[in-house]
Amino acid sequence: MNIYNNVLLSTILWYQIGGVARYVLDVASREELYDALEFVKSNKITKVFVLGLGSNLLFPDEGFDGAIIRFLMQEDGKGIQLFENNIVDSFAGEFLDSIIHFGFDKGLVGLEWAGGLPGTVGAAVRGNVGAFGGEIKDVFVKAHAIRWFGDGDYEEVTLNNEEMKFSYRTSRVKEEKLIVVSAQFQLKQATPEELLAARETYYANITYRQDKHPLDYPNCGSVFKNISKKEEVERILESWPDVRELVEGKWHGKVSMGYVIDRLGLKGQQNGAAQISEKHQNFIVNKGGAKAHEVKGLIAEIEEEMQESFGFTPEVEVEIIS
Ligand SMILES: Cc1cc2nc3c(=O)[nH]c(=O)nc-3n(C[C@H](O)[C@H](O)[C@H](O)COP(=O)(O)OP(=O)(O)OC[C@H]3O[C@@H](n4cnc5c(N)ncnc54)[C@H](O)[C@@H]3O)c2cc1C
Repeated sequence: MNIYNNVLLSTILWYQIGGVARYVLDVASREELYDALEFVKSNKITKVFVLGLGSNLLFPDEGFDGAIIRFLMQEDGKGIQLFENNIVDSFAGEFLDSIIHFGFDKGLVGLEWAGGLPGTVGAAVRGNVGAFGGEIKDVFVKAHAIRWFGDGDYEEVTLNNEEMKFSYRTSRVKEEKLIVVSAQFQLKQATPEELLAARETYYANITYRQDKHPLDYPNCGSVFKNISKKEEVERILESWPDVRELVEGKWHGKVSMGYVIDRLGLKGQQNGAAQISEKHQNFIVNKGGAKAHEVKGLIAEIEEEMQESFGFTPEVEVEIIS
């Protein structure tokens, strides 16, 4: 385990935004995670945050007065292993992308939908990540996790797919604030044709993201969840009846927040170095040195416009840390 004091979070987080953290504890194996928990206990640190790549987080400019346990991929290359029956076991700090390539190299498929989705295995399980019709729960077998009690004590738990209670972008890891140590995924032995098709899907999904998303600037993925509550969709349709066709077709019953933000005229709106992307309006990009309060200002502006236009505010998808 490596211990760092007073780390400027903007230098380690995907969004490149955030003040100083009192401690960052880098863990690249199960053993190092236990060392980090011991460090937290012996130093009586009560504020702890578990970090992967930070691709879905907005930390405050004021920083974080506690310990951040940052999961890294295992250095000895043994973080990902193949078990019997095409089950892949992974340390929580491995990139989801590494699992996909590990599988491809062994003729295994099942996670190709996640091409271009940034993040670690632990966070992927916690948030039941999904894209292009796939979700982690579809291949998840079980996870080894830790329930941390805040006073330094913890217990170990193993949760299978059913026990994990996955639903849209959530799981018991999220609900009960568990720490994922490792997870297993059921992949499928592919024929040469299936393997080729899976590789094509993987690269096509990356290309789609490169075409549609503003990946040339640091960002945190989608800022808001698309609107899915029936009454909220109806409110939008009352004002904009012409989008019914999109709702019933391309958007599968939801309303795209990128579309809404664009139509409200907020595309390209800037607050300091934070900007509502010109390319995809549900992204707020960091044009260089953006501050958390600037991003929050733009989020508040979108919320106000939505409240004024439709009488409700959309649900924020990015996790805002206080
Ligand atoms: C360009 C872009 C595109 C994206 N596209 C998608 C998409 O298509 N679909 C989608 O679902 N998401 C998407 N995201 C969001 C993001 O990729 C996911 O939320 C991802 O799972 C975050 O992984 P991370 O390692 O960066 O987690 P972090 O951002 O570091 O953390 C996210 C949460 O997971 C927790 N966490 C991290 N590690 C662990 C662990 N070991 N145990 C328990 N909790 C843990 C953290 O405490 C935090 O609450 C996108 C993000 C970006 C920037």
